[in-house]
This record gives sequence, structure tokens and C-alpha cells, in this order.
Amino acid sequence: MDAISYERAADAGAAIKAAQQPGVVFIGGGTNLLDLMKGGVAKPVKLVDITHIAGLDTVSELPDGGLRIGALVRNSDAANHAWVRGRYPLLSEAFLAGASAQLRNMATVGGNLMQRTRCYYFYDTGFPQCNKRSPGSGCAAMEGNNRIHAILGASNQCIATNPSDMNVALAALEALVRVSGPKGERVIAFAEFHRLPGDHPELDTTLQPGELITSVDLPPPLFAQHSHYLKVRDRASYAFALVSVAAALQMDGNTITTARIALGGVAHKPWRAGPTEQMLTGQPLSRATLQQAAALAVRDAKSYGDNDFKIELAQRAIVRAVATAGGLT
Ligand code: SF4
Repeated sequence: MDAISYERAADAGAAIKAAQQPGVVFIGGGTNLLDLMKGGVAKPVKLVDITHIAGLDTVSELPDGGLRIGALVRNSDAANHAWVRGRYPLLSEAFLAGASAQLRNMATVGGNLMQRTRCYYFYDTGFPQCNKRSPGSGCAAMEGNNRIHAILGASNQCIATNPSDMNVALAALEALVRVSGPKGERVIAFAEFHRLPGDHPELDTTLQPGELITSVDLPPPLFAQHSHYLKVRDRASYAFALVSVAAALQMDGNTITTARIALGGVAHKPWRAGPTEQMLTGQPLSRATLQQAAALAVRDAKSYGDNDFKIELAQRAIVRAVATAGGLT
């Protein structure tokens, strides 16, 4: 057994200072990190407990009408917060689609941002080939069981997907991630927070060493009237998405004036369906238009055998999610 040291940080500055060496990781709810440690996938030399840092466990209103959700807010508390439910029902739905009630009670918003892929080969150290776990070792999923893997934005190094539901909704809402680090504070646009695998699948995000997530900031609510989170999975609860869709619309009568559509379960990061959004904007909501627009979302898709079905499933999920968001019966 490897020795691990532990430090409880009193404030953000102390946490960041304690994380200035390789192998030091922050621990909040620990729901993913402890799994990774028990399986020998993550081997930190030191855990910095951030759960006692004041001010990171609250939801507050921003001057522009948006919301700030602290990084230590539990997923269940965020999902059930009156402001989140009333102003960002898409996000509340996504939270409640994730994991189990017990896990949502423990998991934090910051930890959810940092969730690692659920690729079987990444978690099973009996398989030596995994570029994400051991850079340069290969990818067992390419020729292996790849039913849950990516169809968009993958590389020849890794075809893993991001497992979070929350992240898909935050991509559609164009949230901001606030971080604090050795060089001060900065704000990361949500689209820039998670990475595609490229040549460095070991990196999931654009966080720099020692940076601590402090909050997720939501822009003013524009989509409370017309949004829907659809998660397609193998069983009704406690399962990761095969495909999910966060759909957020602004409507003028039956005409879509703004469309935001993000997909989960299809890529290494939440995947914005830009061409689909553009085609829908200014169009009356109809099933025929939705089907044409959904096809654009997967025009560059590539599948690997077991996950061929996702190309059709993603289109059908987009049609259903947007139709539901827009009130099309
Ligand atoms: Fe590893 Fe990525 Fe390949 Fe899975 S898909 S085995 S995480 S390199």
C-alpha cells in the first residue's frame, strides 16, 4: 500500500499553496476520486481536503441576473434549489438524471466538472493499453468493447466520452467556470473547459496545475420556458448516458429564435451541435425540420462497431428533446 498524506485546507489560498507539487489532488465529495484510487487508477501522494473552505457551498445571485453556484454545492442541493429549478430547469433536470440519490447527496458541482470517463479499460488496470491512464500505451477500446464510446471529436489516441449530465446542460447554458490558482483568478468559458483527446487524452480539462475551481456562473436565464434534458441509457436510473441531449430554446410563437443544443455520451467533452442550432434558428418548429437539423449534428460522426447505433440514436434523441422543449406534440 502506498502512503498518502492528507491536509485540510482552511481557505482557497492554503489549498492552492498545498497543491504546488506533482501528485497532489483536491478532494471534495470524493465520489469519483475514491473509485479511481481504490482501483489503482489514481495514485495521489497527497489529498487536500477543500470541504471546509468557507463560501464555496452557496448559491447566490449575480448582478447581471445570473446565478453563481459554488464548487462545493452538492449536486442534490443544486438540483433542488428554488432558483435553479425555477430559472434553469434544464440544469435541475440534468442533475437529477445523474447517478443515484446517495451519490448526488455527496458529489459536488466542482467534482462533477472533473468526473473522469467511464471507459471500462481506463478503470481496469488489468488492461495495459489505455492512453488516458498510461500515455503512449495504446487504446484497448478501439478494437474492444466500445458500445459506450465516442462518435464525435475522437482521436486515434482515445475514443472515451465525458460521463457527466450536468456538464451537458452547462454547455447549452454557456456557463462560466471560475478558478483560482497560483497566478490568480481566471474565468473559463464552458466550451473551453473540457478538452477533446487529440494527442493528449490524459488531459480532460484546460485547468492548470494547482488551480482550484471556485464556482460555476450561469448567465441570466433565457430558456426557462423552453428547455428539456433527455437522457437515453440502459436502465432507468443509476446509469451513464448512451446519448443525452440538453435542448434550450427561445420561441416567438412557433418560431425558434434561439437554439442551444448540447449532446452527452458522444464525445470526450459535451458536444455543442452548432450546425443543428444554426439550421433551426428562425424556423418554425416542425418534426421534418428537426429531422433535417438533427442529421447535421452527426454528419462527421465516426463509429467503431459496438457503438454504431449511437449515430441514429443521437439524431432521434435530438428530435425528441427539441420537440419536447418547444412543446411540439
Ligand atoms: Fe483509454 Fe481512452 Fe482508449 Fe478508453 S478510449 S482505453 S480511456 S485511451
